[in-house]
Amino acid sequence: MPDPAAPANSLLVSTRNAHKVREIRAILGDGLHIDDLSCLPDLPMVEETGATFEENATLKALAASEFYGGWVIADDSGLEVAALGGAPGVHSARYAGEPSNDAANNELLLHNLLPFHGEERAARFRCVIVLARNGAKLAAFTGIVEGHILPAPQGAGGFGYDPLFVPRGHSDSFAQLGDDIKNSLSHRARALRNLSAWNGCGAFG
Ligand code: IMP
Repeated sequence: MPDPAAPANSLLVSTRNAHKVREIRAILGDGLHIDDLSCLPDLPMVEETGATFEENATLKALAASEFYGGWVIADDSGLEVAALGGAPGVHSARYAGEPSNDAANNELLLHNLLPFHGEERAARFRCVIVLARNGAKLAAFTGIVEGHILPAPQGAGGFGYDPLFVPRGHSDSFAQLGDDIKNSLSHRARALRNLSAWNGCGAFG
């Protein structure tokens, strides 16, 4: 049964990914109290068996929503490279196999893109945020940022594929651009902006 005592103005992010939580806190601002799964330590790992970002985000949101008496969101996201048929896509976190390893994923991506140059290295990040409450899915919000993949990693910020991804209109990678710029134009920022518009009536309050 959900805990009925979840505080007002609070939102649980159904993730153990500290990078995602940090970005979501920075993007949504101080008006909301944002928890993560460290407040549900007994929740088993959710198997991401969905074929789409929305299916996986739904699995993660509903799993936490069974045990949390308030608003829950889950972010499922990844990189889509047209030249690779949309890969790594929903397999972004484990592109190079288990366990998830950002450096190995980046290396494999660079290897697979060796035959491709210039505009053939176009890529986009996609983020789907699912909102749930009391065990029910309420809505899904999508954000996309277009860009391209560098021939070698650049920069030390961010996480995942950030050192390889240059957003359109920039010449530096997300890892070089820093948190403020990434959080103003990322796929996650765009999905969360759609969530905030949904919440325009102040439902989370
Ligand atoms: P998820 O936790 O199943 O949603 O997997 C997300 C994976 O996609 C991460 O492990 C990264 O590999 C990649 N990813 C998603 N968002 C970002 C981002 O903002 N920057 C870099 N990589 C990302």
